[in-house]
Amino acid sequence: MGQGARVASRRRALLAAGAAGAGAPWLLAGCARAAPPRFEGRWLGASFARGHRLREAGAVPPATRRERADVLVLGAGIAGLACARALARAGVDDLRVLDLEDAPGGKSRAHALGDTRCPLGAHYLPLPGPQAHEVSELLFELGLLRHEAGRTVADERHLCHSPQERLFFDGAWHDGLLPPAAPGSRTLAQYRAFAARVAEVQRLGFALPTQRAPWTAAHAALDGETFAQWLARERFDDPQLRWSLDYACRDDYGAGVAEVSAWAGLHYFASRHGFAAPGDDSAEPVFTWSEGNAWLAERLAAPLRERLRAAHTVLQVDEQRHGVQVLAFDHGRGEAVAFDAHAVVLALPLFVAQRVLRSAPAPLQSALQAAAARARYAPWLVANLLLRAPLLERASGAVLSWDNVGFGSPSLGYVSAQHQSLRPDQQATVLTAYWALPQAERATLLADDWRPWAQRVIDDLATLHPDLPHQLERIDLMRYGHAMRIPTPGARGDPALAALVAQAGRVQFAHADLSAYSVFEEAYTHGVQAATRVQQVLSQRPPAARPLLSPPLATRSPASTSPASPPLTPRR
Ligand SMILES: Cc1cc2nc3c(=O)[nH]c(=O)nc-3n(C[C@H](O)[C@H](O)[C@H](O)COP(=O)(O)OP(=O)(O)OC[C@H]3O[C@@H](n4cnc5c(N)ncnc54)[C@H](O)[C@@H]3O)c2cc1C
Repeated sequence: MGQGARVASRRRALLAAGAAGAGAPWLLAGCARAAPPRFEGRWLGASFARGHRLREAGAVPPATRRERADVLVLGAGIAGLACARALARAGVDDLRVLDLEDAPGGKSRAHALGDTRCPLGAHYLPLPGPQAHEVSELLFELGLLRHEAGRTVADERHLCHSPQERLFFDGAWHDGLLPPAAPGSRTLAQYRAFAARVAEVQRLGFALPTQRAPWTAAHAALDGETFAQWLARERFDDPQLRWSLDYACRDDYGAGVAEVSAWAGLHYFASRHGFAAPGDDSAEPVFTWSEGNAWLAERLAAPLRERLRAAHTVLQVDEQRHGVQVLAFDHGRGEAVAFDAHAVVLALPLFVAQRVLRSAPAPLQSALQAAAARARYAPWLVANLLLRAPLLERASGAVLSWDNVGFGSPSLGYVSAQHQSLRPDQQATVLTAYWALPQAERATLLADDWRPWAQRVIDDLATLHPDLPHQLERIDLMRYGHAMRIPTPGARGDPALAALVAQAGRVQFAHADLSAYSVFEEAYTHGVQAATRVQQVLSQRPPAARPLLSPPLATRSPASTSPASPPLTPRR
């Protein structure tokens, strides 16, 4: 993803002929070259259709099978996988993880085009800061971090190769994502003033995961207004600065400065390395892979083996006196299954959790209803484009980077799946374009044919690369009606979220939504913490009812047991 602003032009008319049927070759007319290019495409992902089962739950046949497990984890996104992994490693072996999709990972899943893997959602993870110790521990176990001469060193094969980001602005490409500002200009002065203000605000305390930061009246005040209101009061009005901040919010939160809270807008910078004005060496090192964060999700999921039940839509969760009953629809076998468990973790978005949880203690039900009622979600479109050959670089300036953004574009730009590849001979190439859409577009996104959306993506990218339509072979699109929670005013400080995390019963919650916004660190930490709470619930069972603990699924690497790690130093 990246910042971006190009003027979206509808320069190409569509030829409806040849466009019938998903996956059929599609013709574009109006192109400069003689032979009109053809490409194929389709919508990806099952969640949309399967999610509808929830609304039709009344029509679901009674369960034809019954299974039991000590613990059920509902949802195999990063939070659910982190939870299941932590439980399995603690010896809780009688475990099932259910997810409605065919593959685990949730918003961190992958796709493949040609012989190239590409992301369907999340695509990078910054080097974890000192407060994200659960994430650091995972990265040590996976070999992405190691200790060397008293320092923590990142495996550079997995760090984003340079160049990392570029911005198309005023007819040329520029390094980084901040629009250039002339020496002595008002824009530069505003960049510097904003950087200084962020440094001041940083002293209030910000952290990733956010639960490790203090929460004071000053934080609550920032949470109580929009970022746009805060910027106006502070007189940050330079159009380039404002575009850049709006982009950052759309990129991380799916909505711009007018919708997110001032806490969220500042947290974006203050929980990381601050805001870097031009001239500061700012590019934050990040881990990234051709397939995005699916690289991580797949490694979290692998040890679970048969405990993972894909293509199972959870329909109902009922907490009962002696356990929890879950009703799910098994899409593989076309039948409803009832699971009985001692404890259940809802690693589901809050709006889904609220729909499926039918009975639970009243305080939990009301906290869930209150939290879900406040949650607003951004719809997103992710387009993966297979190109026959690399695109021409017509504009001068910075060379193709991992993240490429156009100033003023309605999209967030594109990442190149080949960026981490060490094969210079590769001809075909895959780009992943990201669009955070207004909530008002959700219904159209879910109802529409894939072709108008493909065209929107192509038109936008063609303003940067006019040869793109001619090189396009295939475009596969992923749509999310509820991609990520928007940290609107009041969301972060919502007492209902704190109540959900604090509760100690058989039904637990784990999802990035509990942080009011969505990134890997938040999801992963909630998953690990839910596993700890579930172990407490299991340990309260009478001894006769406690199963013998199995050996952990995987042995811990020595690095993972090391004490607090020294500060991170990426080796580039
Ligand atoms: C387009 C996009 C780009 C992103 N980019 C980044 C990035 O680069 N870096 C980053 O850190 N974060 C990114 N994110 C945020 C990303 O959401 C988090 O990193 C993380 O993947 C969230 O994990 P989760 O477990 O909290 O949620 P989810 O991924 O939402 O997991 C919930 C799971 O529950 C399942 N589920 C839902 N309903 C049911 C049901 N009824 N029955 C069974 N299963 C169900 C879903 O299929 C899903 O697997 C991005 C998100 C999107 C949408």
